[in-house]
Amino acid sequence: MTSAHPEQTELRRDLRDLVDRVCADFPDEYWRGVDKTRSYPEEFVSALTKTGCLGALVPEEYGGIGLGVGDASVILEQINRNGGNAGPVHAQLYTMGAILRHGSEEQRRRHLPGIASGDVRLQAFAVTEPIAGTDTTSIRTTARREGDSYVVNGQKVFTSRVQHSDLMLLLARTTPRAETERRSQGLSLFLLDMREVEGLSVRPLDMMVNHETNEVFFDDVAIPADSLIGEEGKGFHYVLDGMNAERILIAAECIGDGRWFVDRASRYATNREVFGRPIGMNQGIQFPIARAHINVESANLMRWRAADLFDDHAPCGTEANMAKLLAADASWEAANAALQTHGGYGFAAEYDVERKFRETRLYQVAPISTNLILSHVGEHVLKMPRSF
Ligand SMILES: Cc1cc2nc3c(=O)[nH]c(=O)nc-3n(C[C@H](O)[C@H](O)[C@H](O)COP(=O)(O)OP(=O)(O)OC[C@H]3O[C@@H](n4cnc5c(N)ncnc54)[C@H](O)[C@@H]3O)c2cc1C
Repeated sequence: MTSAHPEQTELRRDLRDLVDRVCADFPDEYWRGVDKTRSYPEEFVSALTKTGCLGALVPEEYGGIGLGVGDASVILEQINRNGGNAGPVHAQLYTMGAILRHGSEEQRRRHLPGIASGDVRLQAFAVTEPIAGTDTTSIRTTARREGDSYVVNGQKVFTSRVQHSDLMLLLARTTPRAETERRSQGLSLFLLDMREVEGLSVRPLDMMVNHETNEVFFDDVAIPADSLIGEEGKGFHYVLDGMNAERILIAAECIGDGRWFVDRASRYATNREVFGRPIGMNQGIQFPIARAHINVESANLMRWRAADLFDDHAPCGTEANMAKLLAADASWEAANAALQTHGGYGFAAEYDVERKFRETRLYQVAPISTNLILSHVGEHVLKMPRSF
């Protein structure tokens, strides 16, 4: 007997319908407008918040709906499938995992209900730094303990949604690198309430995508000592621990994008007539779209494999990484096919292909770049020599 397709559970169908209904009020013109003005899709985020979807991964005892990652991934996928961009909300779903898994009971009770309801926004996650880049253990931002506080100094880059978040998850060094045995030690994770701190300055970056991305400067920023999540010095491991969920959710966004591109491209290829017949009659147009569809749906199988393992509490690091890489590659290939199919109109904002093309390109680089996934598989799965 074959098991049902993982997308076909009643809950997942209901979630898809729910997100479709929300998205119906936010058509292409809406997303085109926020992209053009580089603004935050506040009305969309509010509408989605009202459905309770942002608390998808928060357990019921803390006010959320306690879904698995597979179920929650449907929400993000479907936003992108409708032509929107899940980027402005996705961090609210999963960044709280650090508090849930490693925070104290007091921190969970204090923060999770507000995050689940959307009354409190935890959308900012400050890890990347200009000099360290991908080499996270080399970050230079420090948090020095002084009495009941930590004093933070340093700089982050590409920190998204700072202006639309109340809380920020911050990774900083609490023990100098020279005093630790391993480079992954001595880093700590903090939940910083940006409404209460002084000395934080933010400089928005002009980016290719509308992601509200910033440089953040910490100049003697004092934060209460109870902002520390878990144990001092273990922050890097807590960040790694949250990455499988992040990879699976991002893979789902890519699947949503990929399906949107394939849909738009095949529709346009069927309707657009040149030389007296639909361009889709030409295999030079038809086959790249068919190939993109095959690759998106194949990547989707790995997304569900990783999500099922995650929700069964089984090791899934490799599958989550593979799902992210396959889905990001597939959505990018589909984007390229859609752009080519639309010819000159692919470059015209009113067709939305160029906007989605830019947005889906991001996933080759952030939140983890393709090379880092290849190196994980090369080293940890295939046991080839470590490259860095
Ligand atoms: C729109 C946007 C939003 C972002 N949001 C956030 C956020 O909210 N919070 C946050 O902390 N970060 C965020 N980032 C940062 C993102 O995670 C980083 O850009 C990414 O991790 C790469 O770091 P980097 O840009 O410093 O690249 P670098 O580390 O300088 O790397 C440059 C290139 O070299 C490759 N490379 C580096 N070392 C190796 C190696 N040893 N082997 C092979 N290839 C290698 C990388 O894969 C990359 O392709 C965001 C980035 C963007 C663009």
